[in-house]
Amino acid sequence: MRFVCPTMHAEHLHMEPVWSATRATLERSRLRWTMFVDPLLARIEGFDLAPVLAWIADHGHEVAMHTHHHKLVGEPGRTTGFVLGEQLSEADIHRCLQENFDYFVERGHVPKGFVSGSWLVLDAIYEWLAAHGFDYDSTLRTYAAAGPWSSFVDDAQCPTARRVKGLLEVPTTAPLTPQLKAMVRRSRRSVVLGNLVYDLYYLHDYDLVRLHKRVAVHLLDRLAPESAAATVSELARGVAAVVPG
Ligand SMILES: [Zn+2]
Repeated sequence: MRFVCPTMHAEHLHMEPVWSATRATLERSRLRWTMFVDPLLARIEGFDLAPVLAWIADHGHEVAMHTHHHKLVGEPGRTTGFVLGEQLSEADIHRCLQENFDYFVERGHVPKGFVSGSWLVLDAIYEWLAAHGFDYDSTLRTYAAAGPWSSFVDDAQCPTARRVKGLLEVPTTAPLTPQLKAMVRRSRRSVVLGNLVYDLYYLHDYDLVRLHKRVAVHLLDRLAPESAAATVSELARGVAAVVPG
């Protein structure tokens, strides 16, 4: 079974040029996208993403959660900004995750998948995800180290799917351009788990305002067999069957 999962780290959907380029890309795609949305900037701007999230779900794509971790400013639940470069406590991490999660739930979307902003891998994040009913995380990458901040995983690449403290880790396999190069050269970057083969590549929403990125997305879309189209949630169900709990 082959799965091709295009994913987007979406942080600027409240900006009209980014959302119109994103919507046009999703409308034209034969694949099913997993949108890892970080609503922090929209929340600070007071822009309600409800219609955007509804549009994504109504068009057969997945609304999942992305979170960049910062020290947030303002009353808890009423964030007005953030401070860059501050040392973060576990409470700071939990606040970032919880406020984003609540934002989705209040708009009728219960996220089941996650990617951490800046690929930050922390024990506190894994524990929070497991406690909040997440099915999978795609923060680890097959092609880059996890970083030194977690005692649950090694500071190394994660070449295949695995469990981390019970949570299913479905690693990201490529950024956009390396994915396109691999597809053109027929040098696979896929994860192979017995009969299950998957590609999970990503780009940012704001990349789509640039023509060459839209072209790359479109080419990848056409190179993938339509039968492989799946959201990461659907892929994760297939992976869960082959990776013991
Ligand atoms: Zn991000």
